[in-house]
Amino acid sequence: MTSANDGLTGASDRNKIQRIFISCDIEGISGVVHGDHAAQGQGEDYGRARRLMTKQVNAAVAGAVQGGADMILVNDSHGTMRNIILEDLHPAAHLVTGAPKPLSMMQGVADGFDGAFLVGYHSRAGTPGVLNHTYSSRTVAELRINGTVAGETLMNAYIAGCYGVPVLLVTGDTEATNEASDALPGVKTVAVKEPVGRYAAKCLPFDEANARIREAAAEAVALIGKARPLLPPTPARFELRLMNTAMAEYVGLMPGAERVDTLTVAYSDDDYIKAFKAARVMITLAASADPY
Ligand SMILES: [Zn+2]
Repeated sequence: MTSANDGLTGASDRNKIQRIFISCDIEGISGVVHGDHAAQGQGEDYGRARRLMTKQVNAAVAGAVQGGADMILVNDSHGTMRNIILEDLHPAAHLVTGAPKPLSMMQGVADGFDGAFLVGYHSRAGTPGVLNHTYSSRTVAELRINGTVAGETLMNAYIAGCYGVPVLLVTGDTEATNEASDALPGVKTVAVKEPVGRYAAKCLPFDEANARIREAAAEAVALIGKARPLLPPTPARFELRLMNTAMAEYVGLMPGAERVDTLTVAYSDDDYIKAFKAARVMITLAASADPY
């Protein structure tokens, strides 16, 4: 049943085990608009935001199941990566929780998946999107990958691409979904809110947002075998513009790093994953600069 010319390709595809990987962030979840929602701690706003996040990722899991997925892995991808409430997660999903993880927001995608969903994603730093930032709102003013300004959607789609996994669905605010459509032609998107500002949004009714995600997720599973993984550039060059010069001084200490200007440091490697990991180390170094 592996021949493309046996006339049974469709049937063969349906007989194949279909595995969906889901990376779930919090800033693009419907109802989430403020740092208090995203800051892990005791606050009422955060407690509510993690419940919304769990319910919204459940909609994507339910859609994947409806679309025929046999195995679903959810990777908690925000902050401490201990937000999704396991006991409330859809029973079809396995959960990766906690941090640090070698592939961070994409941990698990290397284990053999047919497609990836990015749920609750936000737009990159400097865009008009809700809680816009790129990986670290405290340190990163701009990230470029081989000269292209990148957000987490593109950065993570390339990670998935390294393992042959196409991104099939992205959800978030309208800025995040526009960013996804630009980076990933043909990807399915669901916009759950429209930004009014960095800390304000007009939200779809929550049940309506989840119904749309469920429907799009089911349709996205049908793209397996048709959608192509996004292959990263080789060599890969990560260029980080930091928030202040002290951060760039720290980041510039890393062996192999290239100080581009007072605020900007770059790192290149033939291996995208190695360059990505170096960029994470650089972001961690940047955070060690004294605040001023
Ligand atoms: Zn994020």
